[in-house]
This record gives sequence, structure tokens and C-alpha cells, in this order.
Amino acid sequence: MRKRILVTGGAGFIGSHLCERLLNEGHEVICLDNFFTGNKDNIIPLMKNPHFEVVRHDITMPYFVEIDEIYNLACPASPIHYQYDPIQTIKASIMGSINVLGIAKRTGAVALQASTSEVYGDPQVHPQVESYWGNVNPIGLRSCYDEGKRCAETLFMDYHRREGVKVKIIRIFNTYGPNMHPQDGRVVSNFIVQALQGKDITIYGTGQQTRSFQYVTDLIEGMVRMMERTSDDFTGPVNLGNPGEFTMLELAEKILQLTGSKSKIVFMPLPSDDPTQRKPDISLAKKELDWQPGIALDDGLRETIDYFRRIL
Ligand code: NAD
Ligand code: UDP
Repeated sequence: MRKRILVTGGAGFIGSHLCERLLNEGHEVICLDNFFTGNKDNIIPLMKNPHFEVVRHDITMPYFVEIDEIYNLACPASPIHYQYDPIQTIKASIMGSINVLGIAKRTGAVALQASTSEVYGDPQVHPQVESYWGNVNPIGLRSCYDEGKRCAETLFMDYHRREGVKVKIIRIFNTYGPNMHPQDGRVVSNFIVQALQGKDITIYGTGQQTRSFQYVTDLIEGMVRMMERTSDDFTGPVNLGNPGEFTMLELAEKILQLTGSKSKIVFMPLPSDDPTQRKPDISLAKKELDWQPGIALDDGLRETIDYFRRIL
């Protein structure tokens, strides 16, 4: 059945892949974006599809539409961008969620929130399970993002319990792939762009901090499975990530090897509140969604490197 689907933040890195997937499945897609970090180049290939619509709008302002499903992705995701205007960042999560949940309440649409592994902060439980409440600084430089996303989860659950809104919450772990902006500032795009341009590879801190990197198409599959799980009241939150865990030094060395670059590794100051470790426990996603990532880091990095070679 053809559905009408709203994707907020649809011109961003993940949003553009999601819009493409939903259009390929034959749905009507409305991509809402204020183009703060989104990029028209990501969605230009989708414009020829008459079932695709683009709306320039800031989700902190109310928006009215008749819709079956909403994927709420509108929020800057890279530390340099979300710290650029922290007040706008927290508004995107909180007022954005209220506006999205308002649409869902009025239309009966299912609303899926793109939450994040950042809700676990600098985690003391490793790997991170959904039942862990996290270790988050409420007043630091990352708080506008972390606490905004935590409050968004609260809003989703309160609208669900109090108003009967159908909600889904996914906690996305570090995701990478084509359509990342070259100046995005996150580690995978930074290292690849630096390697391809022969610039120094900038490791923050000692490079011993860990992250788990998931290729974007694996994430999209998990998101769609979560949305389609309508047989019961499974709201999540559910972790979506790749459990492979790498230090930033390992990642830098891998990217140098895959690009054949002669760039030097340099060490720079570690930003404040930078989590020391991160790795998802994905047992819940396996059990409830029959989902697990299938793309190994080397393969995903090769695709991403090819993409950056094309656009740089
Ligand atoms: P992105 O910056 O590429 O995409 C975010 C999109 O939201 C952009 O197109 C931006 O212009 C838009 N946007 C920002 N504020 C808006 C507003 N107020 N109104 C309308 N549009 C707005 O980042 P991404 O990596 O694609 O992330 C998408 C979502 O997934 C975000 O909510 C992010 O928090 C979440 N997430 C991403 C990751 C990851 O590793 N990529 C991890 C965890 C969670
Ligand atoms: N990082 C780095 N060099 C960079 C960009 C990031 O060493 O050029 C580090 C960063 O300090 C963090 C990790 O890589 O420890 C992941 O950073 P990213 O901004 O990609 O995501 P997040 O910290 O939100 O997981």
C-alpha cells in the first residue's frame, strides 16, 4: 500500500538515503528540511520522482500535513555543527519533537524518533544496552545535543502514554557513508577527506577512544523494520549500530591503508566530554526486528572513499 511519509531532516546524510529507500518502495515522500546541514545535492537525484516533495521549513515551527508515517531526523548531528548554535540545537530536538508529535496526534500517524547513542553519554556500562540510563553531563558543550535527544525520548513516551500516539524510538550509533558532507566534521568524513587531500589526519586526544561504525544502508534497513513493526506496541528504544569496536587510531590507519594516502597522523586536543568508549548491544534489535548489520567496516569505508573521490 502506498503511504504518505514525512521525513524531517530529509536532505541530510541519513535522511537522503531514507527518502530514496522509501521512494523505491513506492511511497509518497515529503522531505522537510531547513538546510542547516542538509545539502540539496543529496536529494537532486530524487527530484525527478513525482512522488517526492521538498519543503523548506524549520521544524521548531508548527507544520501541518496529512500523513501516515513520520521519521523525525531534523537535528544537526555533528559536534561542530550542533555546538555552533546550541540553543537552536536543543530547540530542534524539543520543539521539533512537540511539533512532530502534534502532527502524529492529529493525523494518527506513527512517529519514529531518530535518537542517538549519545543518550548514554560517556557510558559506564559497556557495551550499551537499552536499559542503561546513561552518564550524561547536563551542562557541558555536548549537552544541547545529548539532553535535547533525551528530552525528545521523554516527549515521545509521554505522548504515547498520555495521548495514545503511536511512537518508535531508535538509538542510532555512529553511522557513515556516501552523502556525508565533506565539511561535516565527524571522524569518518574528516579522516577520508584529509587522506584524499594529503592533509594531516587529525586525531583528537590519544586516539584510544572507541566508536562502533555502522554503514548507512544497514541503518536504513533497521529504521524501516522498526517503522513496519506495527503488529504490537513495540516502541523501543532500540539500539541500531554495528557492534564492531575500533579506536580512532585504528580507524585512521585503516583509512590511510585503504586510500593509499601518505598523510601524517597528528594529535590534537580532545574536545570536552568526548565519550571514551561506545559499542552497541544489539540483542534487542536482533530479537524484535530480526535485524543486524551486514556491511563490514572495510567494505563500507571503500564505498565512502569512492564517494568522496567523486565529489571532491
Ligand atoms: P545531518 O546533519 O546530515 O542531517 C540533519 C538534517 O536535519 C539536515 O538536513 C539539516 O539541515 C536538518 N535540520 C537540522 N535542524 C533542522 C530544523 N530545525 N528544521 C528542519 N531541518 C533541520 O545528520 P545525519 O547524520 O543525517 O543525522 C540525522 C539524524 O540522525 C539526526 O537527528 C541525528 O541526531 C541522528 N543520528 C545520527 C547519527 C550518525 O552517526 N549519523 C547517530 C545518531 C543519531
Ligand atoms: N575525532 C577525531 N578526529 C576528528 C574528528 C573526530 O579524532 O577529526 C574523534 C572524536 O574526538 C571522537 C570520535 O572521533 O572521539 C568520534 O567523533 P564524531 O564527531 O565522529 O562522533 P561522536 O563523538 O559524536 O561519536
